[in-house]
Amino acid sequence: MGGMRCPLGAHYLPVPGDTAIEVIELLEELGLRKMVNGRADYDERTLCHSPQERLFIGGGWRDGLLPPIEALPAAERKAALANYRAFGAAVAEAGRGDAFAIPTARSRWTPALDALDATTFAAWLDRRGLLAPALRWYLDYCCRDDYGAGAAQVSAWAGIHYFASRHGFHAPGSDESLAADSGEGLLTWPEGNAWLAAHLAAPLGDRLHPGRVVLRVSESRDAATIEAWNVAERQRERWIASRVILATPLFVSARILDTPPPALVEAGRLVRHAPWLVANLQIDAALDGQPGAPLSWDNVLYDSPGLGYVDDMHQSTMPFAEATVLTAYWALGGNDDAELGANRARLLREDWHTWTSRVIADLATPHPDLPAKLKRVDLMRYGHAMSIPSPGVRSSVALRALADSTGRVHFAHTDLSAYSVFEEALFHGTRAGHAAASARPSSRV
Ligand SMILES: Cc1cc2nc3c(=O)[nH]c(=O)nc-3n(C[C@H](O)[C@H](O)[C@H](O)COP(=O)(O)OP(=O)(O)OC[C@H]3O[C@@H](n4cnc5c(N)ncnc54)[C@H](O)[C@@H]3O)c2cc1C
Repeated sequence: MGGMRCPLGAHYLPVPGDTAIEVIELLEELGLRKMVNGRADYDERTLCHSPQERLFIGGGWRDGLLPPIEALPAAERKAALANYRAFGAAVAEAGRGDAFAIPTARSRWTPALDALDATTFAAWLDRRGLLAPALRWYLDYCCRDDYGAGAAQVSAWAGIHYFASRHGFHAPGSDESLAADSGEGLLTWPEGNAWLAAHLAAPLGDRLHPGRVVLRVSESRDAATIEAWNVAERQRERWIASRVILATPLFVSARILDTPPPALVEAGRLVRHAPWLVANLQIDAALDGQPGAPLSWDNVLYDSPGLGYVDDMHQSTMPFAEATVLTAYWALGGNDDAELGANRARLLREDWHTWTSRVIADLATPHPDLPAKLKRVDLMRYGHAMSIPSPGVRSSVALRALADSTGRVHFAHTDLSAYSVFEEALFHGTRAGHAAASARPSSRV
C-alpha cells in the first residue's frame, strides 16, 4: 500500500528452539541463520528490532504485553501479583521433562498431557483460583492471538503450551523475568510470512501450478487421480500421480478425497476453525505521540475486542516514524461454538464499511488522530483461518492416524497439530514429503 509492503495474515516466526529442526534447516538454507563460534547468529535485518511490544492501559503505553502491576487499580494489585507468580510456577511445573516442544510431535506425550487436553484453559485456571482480571485478560489475549479463540474454548494443554514450549511465564520482578526481558527473538518481514512462502516457492519454478482448485482426489491400485479447476483457463484438468500430499485443511481434504479414511471424517468433525479479520491501514504521517512507551512492532490495547496492530515499517532503519501501514488483527473464534458461528456469519454478511469503522474506532482510543491521517484501508477476511485446539483435539487418535498415513495420499496441513503456526506446518510438510519420497514406487505414473 503506497509502495509499502504489509502482511495479509501471518507476520512472524519466533527464533527456533533446538527441537524445531526443520525451521533451523530452512533458515540456514535461506541464509538467515548461521553458527558462529558455537552460537546461532541471525540476520539482523530480519530479527525484530527494539522496541518489540507495548500495551495501552490506563491511558498510556507500557513496555511489554503483560499488564504491569503499577498500571492496575490499587485494589487489584496484590491479587494480580500473587496470580502472576502462581501461574508462572504452574507453567514451570507442567513444562518439566520435555512435555512441551515445538513441533508438538517432539513432545514427550504423557497421561498428564491427556488430562490437560481434556479440559478448557479457562476451567483449569478457575480451578486453581487464578481469577485476577489482568492475568485472565492477558491469557485470553494470548489464546486469541495464537489460537484464534478465547481461553474458554482452547484446551488447558494449548494454554500452557503457549508458554511452556517457548519462554515460560515470568512474573514481574522474578529473576527469570529479567532474563526474558533481555530479548526473546523473533523474525519478521514487512510483508510478514509471505516472505517465507515466496522463498519456499521460488526453487520450484514452473513446476508450481497455482490457480488450481482441487475438486476431487481418487486412489486406485496403480495411481492417484486429481481433478482440478484451472481458474485462468476456466476449465477442468486431470493430473495422475503415484503419490499425493494433501496440504489442504483437513475439512477440505475430507470433502475432496473420493473415499476419505474414517480418521479424516472424524478429524473433520472434531476440528473447528476460527474466522479472522486482517485490516491494513495506510497512514500518511506519523501518529501523535502518547504518554509512555514509544511506537513498537506490536501494539496491543488492554480490554479491546481486537488484538492491536503491527507497524509494518518497523524493520525499516528510518530514524523516525513517517508514513506507514498498520496491520490490525481481529481473531473471531469467540468463547464458544455459538459465538464462533455468529462471528463467522457477521464477517461474511457485514459490509467493509461496518468492519472498517469497528477497526478504526478501536484504534482511535489510543490514536485520536488516526482517522484524519488514514489514506486507505484494505480488509482481508478468513472464514476458516486456523484450527482451534479445543479440548480433545490434540490428543485425538484421528489426528495421530492421519499424520502416520502410509497410502498414496499423505496429509500435511498444520491442522494435524491441532493449532496453526509456521513451525508445525513446516514439520508436517517435511514429514509428508519424506514419507512420499521414501515409499516404494508401485507404478511409473
Ligand atoms: C490472520 C492470521 C495470522 C497468523 N499469524 C501467524 C504468525 O504470525 N506466525 C505463524 O507462524 N503463523 C501464523 N498464522 C498461522 C499460519 O498462517 C498457518 O500456520 C500456516 O499458514 C499453515 O500453513 P499450511 O500450509 O499448513 O496451511 P494453509 O496456509 O492453510 O494452506 C492451505 C492451502 O490450501 C489451499 N487450498 C484449500 N483448498 C484447496 C483446494 N480445494 N484446492 C487447492 N488448494 C486448496 C488454500 O488456498 C491454502 O493455500 C496466522 C494465521 C492467520 C489466519
